[in-house]
Amino acid sequence: MNCEAARPLLHAYVDGELDLVKSLELEAHVSSCPACTHEQTSLRALRTAFANSTLYHDAPAQLRRRVRTAVRDARRAEAGRGITFLHLGWAGAAAAAVLLISLTVRAVLPFGSAPGDLMAREVVDDHLRSLTQNHLTDVLSTNQHTVKPWFDGKLSFAPPVKDFAAEGFPLVGGRLDYLDNRPAAAIVYRRRQHIINLFISPAPHANDSAPLSQVRAGYNIVEWTRSEMRFWAVSSLNAGELSHFAQIVRNETS
Ligand SMILES: [Zn+2]
Repeated sequence: MNCEAARPLLHAYVDGELDLVKSLELEAHVSSCPACTHEQTSLRALRTAFANSTLYHDAPAQLRRRVRTAVRDARRAEAGRGITFLHLGWAGAAAAAVLLISLTVRAVLPFGSAPGDLMAREVVDDHLRSLTQNHLTDVLSTNQHTVKPWFDGKLSFAPPVKDFAAEGFPLVGGRLDYLDNRPAAAIVYRRRQHIINLFISPAPHANDSAPLSQVRAGYNIVEWTRSEMRFWAVSSLNAGELSHFAQIVRNETS
């Protein structure tokens, strides 16, 4: 596959709408093509930004009324002019819709996100970075006795590292990452062709909490707290299997 063939497929790929064979062909090209890698990263960033729920706000009632009135006036004018100018009515409606969208976006963009939202976004960003920048693992090993000691001295806490191959989630390795500007452990697992990043950061004095699932930019996230550590599992894996994975990890964390 070359760039010309790859570019039209990138959107569908980012949206997870490409079949497995095409996905693999595309991944093979993108991994060896800096230009397409850049394009893919931009698309993902755009997708993440638009998936941010804080972008969706209802227009104020007054603006809504003004747009409705503008559309109605345009329709009336069009009716007066006869069928020849029918398209002008639609042009007026389209212009009003664009005005509504641009005003809404402009009114909304300055507002920030809730802290939980930011964390979820960071978790997804870190997950994507690990997949796209060829930096999935610092220590590549399916052996928990190799991965666990690798973190010694690199973190202020000892992240639990266990292989769950028997449960269908084999260990791939580990990586040092950052969450909320602090070093965190990223333990990497695999389920079929899906990579799972399990981020673990210290949470001193935090109470244990039950797993909480959410979807961010098309990725599933499960978050929970256990033994004064916060866990985030993030993957393109379906929500059911990721929750099952979270349950296994949680039960194994003493
Ligand atoms: Zn290319």
